[in-house]
Order: sequence, then C-alpha cells, then structure tokens
Amino acid sequence: MSLVDSFGRQINYVRLAVTDRCNLRCQYCMPAHGIDIVGRKELLSYKEMYRIVRVLTELGINKIRLTGGEPFVRKDFIGFLEMLSFNDLLEDINITTNGALISKHIETLEKLKKVKNINLSIDSLQRDKFAKITRRDVFPEVYDTFELLEKSSLNLKLNVVIQSGFNTDEINDFVALSKDKNIAIRFIEEMPFNGKGQRDIQKNWNFKQILNEIKSKYDVTEVVSEKSSTSRNYAIEGHKGTVGIIPAFTRTICNDCNRIRITSTGTFKNCLFDDGVFNLRDFIRSGASNDDLKELFLSLIKEKPKNGFIAEANRKKGGVSESMSTIGG
Ligand code: SAM
Ligand code: SF4
Repeated sequence: MSLVDSFGRQINYVRLAVTDRCNLRCQYCMPAHGIDIVGRKELLSYKEMYRIVRVLTELGINKIRLTGGEPFVRKDFIGFLEMLSFNDLLEDINITTNGALISKHIETLEKLKKVKNINLSIDSLQRDKFAKITRRDVFPEVYDTFELLEKSSLNLKLNVVIQSGFNTDEINDFVALSKDKNIAIRFIEEMPFNGKGQRDIQKNWNFKQILNEIKSKYDVTEVVSEKSSTSRNYAIEGHKGTVGIIPAFTRTICNDCNRIRITSTGTFKNCLFDDGVFNLRDFIRSGASNDDLKELFLSLIKEKPKNGFIAEANRKKGGVSESMSTIGG
C-alpha cells in the first residue's frame, strides 16, 4: 500500500504547516495588519500532527518539510522536532524559516540527525529594503542566522522571492554570495497568495526573466537535478554554491510532483493551488482510526490533479488569494 496518484506519481513528501502565526508581515504573503489567525484549538496539536505523519510514513512518505507561518513561533517546536525524530520511517526532516528566531537553536538542530535541510527566506541583502518587504526591522538577526547556518553542518538553501519594483536589482548580488559559500540560492517566482491582494504585482518576473538577468552577468550551466526538484538549478564556474529558480507560478514542474500538503488546521491539499480537499482534524477528532486515515489518504491521492492549472480551475472558493502563511509555503 503506497501513495500513488492516478498519473502514476509516487508521493513521498509532505509539507506540514505547524502554525498560521508569524512574527513577520512579508508584503507578498499577508497584509500589514496580518491575517485572521484561527483560535488555538483549531490548530492541529503536535500529537495530532505526529499521528498523521506516522500514518503517512506507513504509506511511503519518507520526507517532511515543516513550514508555516513561522514554525519557530509555535511553542516547543524543538520538542516537536525531537518527537518526529523518533519516527523510524522518516528519513529527512526539512524546515523553512524566516530565521529571525532561530540563532539560539542551531546547535540543537545540528544534533537532530534527521534534520538535514534548512531553507532560509531572505529577500534582500539591504536592511532598509528588507524592512520594507517584511515590515519588520530584523535584517541583522536574519543575517546572523544566515552566517551561523552557513557554518553549521546543516544544508542551507536561501529562498528569495523575486518582487518587481523591490529586489530584481539584487538578483546578481545574491548570485555573488554563491561564490565562496556552499549554499543553494533559489529565486522564487512571486505568486498571488498574499492574504487578499494587498500587494499589487505590477509585473511578474517569471523564470525566463530571472534566468536572463543572471545570464547578463554570469555564464551558467544547468545541472541535473533530482526528478522531483522544485527548482531548475545552475552551476557557475568557480562558485562553491549553486543557483536555482523555482517556477512556482508558471508551474512547469508539476509532472514530477511528489508532494502533498497539510495546513495548520489540518486541511489536506493535493496541490498548492487547490482549495483544500479534506479536513483531517475533524476526521481525527470524530474518532477515526489509523486504518480509516490510511484508507482516506489512499483515496484522496487519487484526486490529485495533473497540474497546478487544473487544481486552480477546480477551486470552488474563487481565485488564489489566501495567504501562504495559512497554506504553508
Ligand atoms: N515563515 C517561513 C518563511 O518565510 O520561510 C515559512 C513559511 S513561508 C509561507 C514559506 C515560503 O513561502 C517562504 O520562502 C516565502 O518567501 C514563500 N512565499 C510566501 N508567500 C509567497 C508568494 N506570494 N509568492 C511566492 N513565495 C511566497
Ligand atoms: Fe511570515 Fe514566512 Fe509569510 Fe514572511 S513569508 S509573512 S516570514 S510566513
């Protein structure tokens, strides 16, 4: 019994949002006043999350990405990581974080053997601009985290959302960081998941434009990536690190999708662009057994749409405008 969708794609990766709360207010993710967060009881508890993940691993999931909101905002997130590490069927535990709260936890993270990859979101290398984008003046802390992570034993990827009118002029400054640092820098196409259209995207910088900007300064060679990689990746001669581009909005990566998502309130999502197909929290709280959960997952996976365009077209609740903080980016 394993999770294979109706297009033959084997699903082995779950992205789980551990909270919808966040300490920052990134303009492409939510309005300045934040999103309407849900009551605590509506969030999955760590025990519920553990149980869902355990069942999923019994169906072949072996990697998890923990995201949010900001995962480190949730109380005792480190305890949850320790708890998850006990799951012998889980091979990799990856985390996406804005980095503002984690410098003191890095040593602990290094000790958790299954925690391997950290994606740090950082959209500008200039303090003023960083503060405008995130609406919080925390660049020094985030940069500190960046330097500590870079020196640590954890694999580090930087997530840089490319926002027209803000940071397109810094693309090659980020690329320059890969010269001496063994990091993967990934530029992400901006998507309209901004918690109800507070930021008006003037011009969408797509994959091609981002690549052309890099090529205007560097000779890049495409490197072979893992089949299910979300980014197309490039090497530059003489650079220790690599650069990649995530076509999040143009969606040219769906054919090899190997993932599902679970939001902080327990909504199961087959695709970033669908509007949620099932509420696992209510199912568990009404007494579902692990076998019921297994059966459910095996049937939900058969509804996984072929790609993000079909998922978007099938939405019942209107266009894509919810915050990435709710979905779990
Ligand atoms: N708070 C953590 C962070 O920022 O890394 C984890 C959650 S955040 C929603 C996950 C990723 O989604 C971040 O790299 C963020 O930059 C990205 N993201 C959020 N809103 C986005 C949007 N509208 N378009 C593209 N990427 C977005
Ligand atoms: Fe918070 Fe991450 Fe959204 Fe920024 S992108 S507001 S850090 S959840």
